[in-house]
Amino acid sequence: MKILVINAGSSSLKYQLIDMDNESVMAKGLCERIGIDGHLKHTPLVGGKPVYDENLSLPTHSEAISAVIDKLTSAEYGVVSSMQDIDAVGHRVVHGGEKFASSVVITDEVMDAIRECIPFAPLHNPANITGIEACRKVMGDVPMVAVFDTAFHQSMPGKAFMYAVPYEYYKNDGIRRYGFHGTSHRYVSSRAAEILGRPIEELKLISCHMGNGSSICAIENGKSVDTSMGFTPLVGLPMGTRCGDLDAGVIQFIMNKYHISIDEMLNILNKKSGVLGVSGVSSDFRDLEKAAEEGNERCRLALDMFYYWVAKVVGSYAAAMNGTDAIIFTAGIGENSSSTRSAIASYFGYLGVRIDEEANKKRGEDMVISTPDSKVTVLVIPTNEELVIARDTKKLVG
Ligand code: AMP
Repeated sequence: MKILVINAGSSSLKYQLIDMDNESVMAKGLCERIGIDGHLKHTPLVGGKPVYDENLSLPTHSEAISAVIDKLTSAEYGVVSSMQDIDAVGHRVVHGGEKFASSVVITDEVMDAIRECIPFAPLHNPANITGIEACRKVMGDVPMVAVFDTAFHQSMPGKAFMYAVPYEYYKNDGIRRYGFHGTSHRYVSSRAAEILGRPIEELKLISCHMGNGSSICAIENGKSVDTSMGFTPLVGLPMGTRCGDLDAGVIQFIMNKYHISIDEMLNILNKKSGVLGVSGVSSDFRDLEKAAEEGNERCRLALDMFYYWVAKVVGSYAAAMNGTDAIIFTAGIGENSSSTRSAIASYFGYLGVRIDEEANKKRGEDMVISTPDSKVTVLVIPTNEELVIARDTKKLVG
């Protein structure tokens, strides 16, 4: 069974074609600048075909999907002979509200429900919907599945997902913690159970997804019981450009003092804050690490804040679950930055964590970086959201 995984943004569209017989990626690619001019990079990974990397006209997502299908099936760059070889499509959808606690086959009713979630994710869900509609237009009756970033966190209990504001806002308007990166937390937690050789139903895990956006998830018996992102992906840890947790009074103070609108304020909190805002240098940890080594104190402070926040949230989840069996690092920073992992783990002495610094130097593969006598196992697991989407799609349509 061959499954096309689609992650549609407002002007971009990422894809992978996965052969589910051996879960291998046959081709992957990225359409960019959709609606502006257009660019497609298509990388075949089987058959020794060349990479296609060109500008081409992509006025809408429909042309982008058509271009992807064209490349996947072309004699020169293709990995399958026709569109009929693609058995199903799995779509990443950011917000499923309280309606979706798991992935679903896409029907007209499901599309309506995804549309109803637009107010919760006004930037992301419309792009995801556009991607699905474009696929349906170009690919006709091929079965399609929606996999939601929020679904994994629907198992959180009320005490974890409620905000302490008047209850009516929850009941009437759905104001609550939803959490994001659910597909990633789900993948790395089930992979951790495999590596530990224990059933996930017996484990207390803490997953640290640390990339441009970062969130931490407490996973008990295979279910998310708390997570650091909230109603939106703005809160929790300080991130590349997002502020993380912030006293709402600060927003009022800054808006009043500098006469700025709520839209401008949110733009500052989403795009100009986080480690970029504190350092004034970059949102990329590679730049921050280099500058901090060269003596830049604001870069050092931004990194220290990030480590401290991760340690603080992990500690609170260890307390909430009355202990933890394993802590997992994943995503761009978690998978690649050994100094970040070391600095964060240095807070975990009270948990009995001991890091094997030699093992911690490696990157980019599944690995245990704690010593055999560490009371809590610390793992690095490269995330694979596309594979989760493909597996869910296979399960639902296969
Ligand atoms: P992601 O959102 O998961 O793609 O993560 C992207 C982020 O990972 C980048 O902005 C960097 O901050 C970080 N990153 C990637 N590679 C490295 C590396 N070798 N060392 C430190 N940080 C890295």
